[in-house]
Amino acid sequence: MNPTYESIRRSIESGETSCETITAEMLGAIDDRPGLNAFLAVFRENAIARAREVDRKFRDGTAGRLAGMVVAVKDVLCLRGERVTCGSKILESFESLYDATAVSRLLNEDVIVIGKTNMDEFAMGSSSEHSAFGPVLNPVDSTRVPGGSSSGSGAAVAAGMAHTALGTDTGGSIRQPAAFCGVVGMKPTYGRVSRYGLVALSSSFDQIGPFAHSTADAARVLQVIAGKDDADSTTSQDPVPDYLASLTKDVRGLRIGIPEEFLKEGICDDVLAAFHRAVDRLKEAGAKISNVRLPHARYHIATYYILMTAEASSNLARFDGARYGYRSPRAKDLQEMYLLSRSEGFGQEVKRRIMLGTYVLSAGYYDAYYLKGQRVRRLIQSDFLEAFRAVDALLMPTTPTTAFRFGEKASDPLQMYLSDVFTVSANLAGTPAISVPAGNDSEGLPIGIQVMGKHFDEATVLKVGDFLEEEVT
Ligand code: GLN
Repeated sequence: MNPTYESIRRSIESGETSCETITAEMLGAIDDRPGLNAFLAVFRENAIARAREVDRKFRDGTAGRLAGMVVAVKDVLCLRGERVTCGSKILESFESLYDATAVSRLLNEDVIVIGKTNMDEFAMGSSSEHSAFGPVLNPVDSTRVPGGSSSGSGAAVAAGMAHTALGTDTGGSIRQPAAFCGVVGMKPTYGRVSRYGLVALSSSFDQIGPFAHSTADAARVLQVIAGKDDADSTTSQDPVPDYLASLTKDVRGLRIGIPEEFLKEGICDDVLAAFHRAVDRLKEAGAKISNVRLPHARYHIATYYILMTAEASSNLARFDGARYGYRSPRAKDLQEMYLLSRSEGFGQEVKRRIMLGTYVLSAGYYDAYYLKGQRVRRLIQSDFLEAFRAVDALLMPTTPTTAFRFGEKASDPLQMYLSDVFTVSANLAGTPAISVPAGNDSEGLPIGIQVMGKHFDEATVLKVGDFLEEEVT
């Protein structure tokens, strides 16, 4: 069993271990399994130097709230003076000029950042097969994908290379790899965590959140990174409640909804069985279970992939060879500079989405696709608001299957997109959602169960997640 931060901190405070020892062990874990390819950069010297500094703070009694927590950061978040590749050749040598707010808030509480993690290029993907720097292997079974796009963050935590990690979730990129790797992953409400210093994929969907071994550790990280930030005007002014206080394991009287439309087809037996086990456990503990309707459920995937590609195509226009990263050496004039830099710099999936997004935004098709997509998004949001009048949280599987094999969906983008069927809804609606481990399937692969809550009600989501989380063997 992996120790929680609370117990690690106690061991540091009692002098049983030190931040330096823990950091060295984690660097050792990274060296032991280079084939996992979870990291794009490992900050060896800096991490050890920082660990010594935090050890000093422990001795002085000035250690911060997360002192000694070893954190891995998805390579789409800025860390000053370090490269931020976004898993893309186009940004291979681009260095951040400042820290992302989520990262600097963690640093202020004395975490140790051990490295930047591998990911699907520009956070587009569900398997890590779209990283320009090679795929990440699932630590549980290396013939399987770790999920995506925060592939390295999920794998690093699962493989004991970091206590926690930051990822980003636009359509499931924290929850799906968390489910596939057997760890906890949380997407907060849109606006709960500042996106300043996050390279944007789809600005109205993106959120930063934690990976951890326990819901309690995810809560600890969220506590620090959440809250208003003047540098991101979409952050909420609402005060951040005490998340740990909600982890009471007491779910009596909580109203939990099961979205029946979601459970009709395409879910593998072991995942469904784990889901029903979770429902039964909640029922036995006194939660009130009921069915809820989400009438537009069958439009979730289509709406997501229309709107996210539109936003992505517009966000990615800034990578033009002039301002950031790669510029083709073969270009002879301005037009060629744009054309060749983008053609050579972006991978296939990114190009596919830029083309799709440009198409749905183009003059002749804007009304038919983008505008209609926005309208359907509103209907989907209304479905959730309606459902949350009757229940406090929704329960569903995180993914229809456990981790699939490399190559299984790589040549069929539609199959790959369909694997996001349970995760995109929280991004369309902007609601918080967590994936917690719920045992293993018959092949020993981890299964994830998802809890979704009302806007800004992370406390209930964490409470139910904490109640449900099971040890993955
Ligand atoms: N799999 C989704 C996609 O490819 C998730 C992306 C994300 O959350 N960053 O779009």
